[in-house]
Amino acid sequence: MSLSFYNTLSKKVEQFVPIDPTGKNVGLYTCGPTVYNYAHIGNFRAYLFGDTVKRALQYCGYEVNHIMNLTDVDDKTIRDSQLAGKTLEEFTAFFTEEFKKDSAHLNIVPPSRYTRAVEHIPQMIELIEALIEKGYAYKSNDGSVYFNVRKDTNYGQLSKVTLANLEKRPFGRDESSAAGRIAKDEYEKENASDFALWKAWDENDGEVFWEPKGLLGGRTSIGKGRPGWHIECSAMSMEYLGAHFDVHTGGVDLIFPHHENEIAQSECATGEQFVNYWLHNEWVMVDGKKMAKSAGNFVTLRTIIKKGISPLAFRLLMLMSHYRSPVNFTWEALEGAENALKRLHSHFLEYGGGGSVNEKYTELFTKNIENDLNTPLAIATVWDLIKDPTIPSVDKKVTLLNFDAVLGLGLAELKKETIPVEILALADMREQARKEKDFDRSDELRAEIEQAGYTVKDTEDGPVVAKK
Ligand code: AMP
Ligand code: ZN
Repeated sequence: MSLSFYNTLSKKVEQFVPIDPTGKNVGLYTCGPTVYNYAHIGNFRAYLFGDTVKRALQYCGYEVNHIMNLTDVDDKTIRDSQLAGKTLEEFTAFFTEEFKKDSAHLNIVPPSRYTRAVEHIPQMIELIEALIEKGYAYKSNDGSVYFNVRKDTNYGQLSKVTLANLEKRPFGRDESSAAGRIAKDEYEKENASDFALWKAWDENDGEVFWEPKGLLGGRTSIGKGRPGWHIECSAMSMEYLGAHFDVHTGGVDLIFPHHENEIAQSECATGEQFVNYWLHNEWVMVDGKKMAKSAGNFVTLRTIIKKGISPLAFRLLMLMSHYRSPVNFTWEALEGAENALKRLHSHFLEYGGGGSVNEKYTELFTKNIENDLNTPLAIATVWDLIKDPTIPSVDKKVTLLNFDAVLGLGLAELKKETIPVEILALADMREQARKEKDFDRSDELRAEIEQAGYTVKDTEDGPVVAKK
């Protein structure tokens, strides 16, 4: 078998074949956070998913160029920076740093490059210009620029949205009117609508605007304003990965309109297919509802850390479900995952070094990962390996370490706690007493070790002392 993914575009599990003729390099784009607040753990399911896709590609031998955008200018960042009385730059810089810290806590490998929207405005304007030139975009009377979905005969290829309502309107409608157009970055209407590529400045934008003429050396007639959200991702992904690249990830709620619009803008501007594989993770739910900032039912990583729970327990909890299944978040489930994580870590610490990779379990694990990232079965393989009495523990250790390149559960970083020498001396004395079959003495020494706040466990590799 080889690596395969469920492609939202074809609605099928497909074998992964990279565009690169050498078969080595892969371009991967993950829609990143809007840096206007702390990301919640529902959002982090999407970033953990992007990270898992990257790790799986690397595990299968590919070199991955992974790009993640930071949406640092849009309706929400402008609105909330004004409410906070801060410049857009100051405001988004703070939440960008918090996002990076949270990602590090979750063992998310930083992308090859984070791309900030505000640093790619000229690329966005070039793209908009190309769309106007080719007749796919039009300027409205207020100076904003909209994408004309009716001109794109492939519109709806990803989400299968319908153009029905648009078609009901009289042909040759007045493009200066607002009918059928959506100025907001986010909309939920099931029907396609013309969407904003460039938003003309109005007083609500305050200090936030760009002058395209200056940026493009006068080569544009687009007036003062700011980009729409969708064009940001098209411009930044194509800048670093090329007009046609391999994999694009995000949560299912981005399929429409965001990803549909990304495809429309990019393919109409370049005339090429934009992305080969579209991968989407399902939601984190709370009591049957999607976890969302607007629903007020969200949990951030801060709360998890404050409760003394390891962020990696959340990572494990997400891996225990397939990415295409919704996960109902409960504190009990998270505590269960934390117990499992502790068990995994303590087994790993007990194993000695110097073994060799177990082929049978590696094959099983790899098959599960290759099969559309079946992480729940891959985790089951981890436990099967741990429980298998026929495998030497030194082999278990190296094999688990290899698995962790995909799982990211922090095994490589685990260190035996430094145990004070006097406690180790007590453990040595206890081991000596046991060897001499002086069990009263060995029990006394164990009690002394426990009183000092440590435990001693007898394993096949000898006694292991740990902090309680
Ligand atoms: P947003 O900041 O709303 O653009 O969301 C950032 C990422 O998180 C996107 O990929 C969303 O699809 C994803 N997302 C948002 N809410 C959830 C949720 N409850 N469960 C899983 N993914 C989510
Ligand atoms: Zn995006």
